[in-house]
Amino acid sequence: DRIISANLMMEDQAVELSLRPRYLAEYIGQNQVKENLKIYIEAAKMRNEALDHVLLYGPPGLGKTTLANIIANELGVNLRTTSGPAIERPGDLAALLTNLQEGDVLFIDEIHRLHRTVEEVLYPAMEDFALDIMIGKGPSARSVRLDLPPFTLIGATTRAGLLSAPLRDRFGVVSRLEFYTVDELSYIVSRGADILGIEIIGDAADEIALRSRGTPRIANRLLRRVRDFAQVRGDGMITPAIAEESLKMLQVDPKGLDQIDYKMLHAMITSFRGGPVGLDTIAATIGEESQTIEDVYEPYLLQIGFLQRTPRGRMVTAAGYQHLGLPMPTDQ
Ligand code: ADP
Repeated sequence: DRIISANLMMEDQAVELSLRPRYLAEYIGQNQVKENLKIYIEAAKMRNEALDHVLLYGPPGLGKTTLANIIANELGVNLRTTSGPAIERPGDLAALLTNLQEGDVLFIDEIHRLHRTVEEVLYPAMEDFALDIMIGKGPSARSVRLDLPPFTLIGATTRAGLLSAPLRDRFGVVSRLEFYTVDELSYIVSRGADILGIEIIGDAADEIALRSRGTPRIANRLLRRVRDFAQVRGDGMITPAIAEESLKMLQVDPKGLDQIDYKMLHAMITSFRGGPVGLDTIAATIGEESQTIEDVYEPYLLQIGFLQRTPRGRMVTAAGYQHLGLPMPTDQ
């Protein structure tokens, strides 16, 4: 696995639980999203009603699951967590829904991967807090409507575009999470170090932040890797020199790019004159899955302006060429 992967790895799990902020005030960045949620949460509490359904979307590792937990905490209700692919049959969802208490939050991660038949159970549940159940078979079959307690559905997805329109329309609040700034990530690194009892100098936190691809999950992972170096090579304190040296050994460059990013950009340049080239062709050339490139790696390269999406495919930009130290073809 790539150390700069934004996907959750086994090694992250235990630590993420201890580093996860529990209230909005501890949640760094995403100010617009936070401001909106604060008002909606406050209003729902004043009216003593369930919060509107919330859809959170954006690349992995930016804090969607964290935010779902925070919303439940701020509301003072229970959170039930599941994911799109985990709900195999309509009955599985019905069981989850009927076990909710009034005002509870049901969090469905990867909601774009819900089976269609399951999704259809969700429509009346979200809209009318009702469950339509078929009783019997054949000509005598009839539908019975069961009331559900008012609840809040929080859906998370890396791909809002893959959600069906009827599902998307049933969310009252739709929030897109953005990549974090270096300052925000530096703060997240320092906060993480504090919680884990790691000594770190401010400039070293910046060094880690710069290479974290705008993603808190990666920042926390790099912090732990750098700590190992600091303990073995130094006296445990993370100094800027130790941070820089260890990140170099981990082959994460000053912009957070690793060997696979280089492989992809080089392949686009040498085999396709920098593009435009289709995603599937890039994927086949470097032996990665198109979907992984599109969901996990490409968003950051687009964000920092090394790649550009055009109707005819992806292109390496002038900034991308410059970062690799390669001349850009003059006829582009
Ligand atoms: P996602 O669900 O979007 O993949 P997570 O919510 O699991 O991402 O976030 C990954 C980890 O990053 C969390 O466990 C937490 O430690 C950290 N994190 C995410 N967002 C923030 C934030 N705004 N402030 C501090 N830490 C954060």
